Amino acid sequence: MCANPVTRFAPSPTGKLHVGNLRPALLNWLYARKGGGQFVLRIDDTDAERSKEEYVDAVKRDLEWLGLDWDRYERQSERMDRYNAVADELRAQGRLYAAYETGTELGLKRKTLLQSGRPPVYDRAALNLTDEDKAKLEAEGRKPHWRFKLDQTRTSWTDGIRGDVNVDCASVSDPVLIREDGGFLYTLCSVCDDIDFGITDVIRGEDHVTNTATQIQIFDAMGDKPTGFAHHSLLVDADGSGLSKRLGSLTLESLREAGVDPLALLSYMARLGTSEPIEARATHAEIIEGFSLDTLGRAPARFNREEIDALGVKMLHTRPFEDVAPLLADAGVETAIAPKFWELIRENIASTDEISDWWKVVTGDITPDIADEDREFVTTAQAAFDGAKPWDETTWKTVTDALKTETGRKGKGLFMPLRKAMTGRSNGPDMGALLPLLKR
Ligand code: GLU
Repeated sequence: MCANPVTRFAPSPTGKLHVGNLRPALLNWLYARKGGGQFVLRIDDTDAERSKEEYVDAVKRDLEWLGLDWDRYERQSERMDRYNAVADELRAQGRLYAAYETGTELGLKRKTLLQSGRPPVYDRAALNLTDEDKAKLEAEGRKPHWRFKLDQTRTSWTDGIRGDVNVDCASVSDPVLIREDGGFLYTLCSVCDDIDFGITDVIRGEDHVTNTATQIQIFDAMGDKPTGFAHHSLLVDADGSGLSKRLGSLTLESLREAGVDPLALLSYMARLGTSEPIEARATHAEIIEGFSLDTLGRAPARFNREEIDALGVKMLHTRPFEDVAPLLADAGVETAIAPKFWELIRENIASTDEISDWWKVVTGDITPDIADEDREFVTTAQAAFDGAKPWDETTWKTVTDALKTETGRKGKGLFMPLRKAMTGRSNGPDMGALLPLLKR
């Protein structure tokens, strides 16, 4: 890791972020924060047709919810002049060439190559076109798309996760950098941006390994030193299947709406696919502290939603009052007893949605659960509790001791009917501590 690394998360705003997108977002953020560097949010919105403002807003909302703050914000759609200038430079170098094949023609070429057992690499036919040929094609109404002429050599780098990697660019098609409608593909724009924004390290999914080889060649053509690269493995479903539809549709928004604790999600994702145990972390600082890129492995990371929920429940049980005070207020909990109330219920809930259920227990807005055989006993007990003085932490013991003597009931037979009658439930906080909060 270099000192003060600068990383970026670069989503294309063509849909909502899902759990698979969270991995590069979080890893880049952690890497920057751990090294005391900077994290850039870059919106890759050169595809005007598919990019939508609502998705840009959604990306920001998701990152804000997770507390993944950015130091700089950029949009590719605002940098077209720069990309055009770089494209001109590459054309002048003979590294960017016009090609005119249609999608159907390219598909046919691919098919023929595959059928004869050869790799489906673009044959560079366009390089042989004369100016006359091109003029003729354009007169027919064809527009060029622009391909980057790769050096057909092995391109290598030391990957931050995968170690020494090399890609034989002789078996890679010259990538299209500009579409026939003039739209830039992210491949070129990303290199320009990484240079201009001083990005030092790019952490992204292993589906980008081939892109990296071509982008390293673009860095070279532009006369710049490539950034560092690290390719993480992809998420798979807990049962081992690839990023299934199920995971792809598990959006961060849906997790937020389901009440998932953002710190539970981050604690989980920060350690998923690493050699370190997954542990609940109460703050972002602790997650940063426990992070190291070196611990990431190459095996696919198995994503299990249930583990996040379990972590969340564990974290809820130790969550300090200050953290949940606004939620308690929203549920109508009286300020004066809110701290005590939280201390009592937090270990008995699986989600903050249950706060209001327990508040109903305090206000008496419940249906008492009384078995027929306990009815008489509960009536006796009710009279005893009604007359009890003082109404504090000693009351439960004093009254139940007296009931024990009076009725001969003991243990569960004594306590359970009382708990069920007073709370409508068979489990919950210690009754001695809860009782003084209950409205008589
Ligand atoms: N917009 C690209 C993507 O979402 C960015 C990839 C990268 O990190 O370079 O795939």
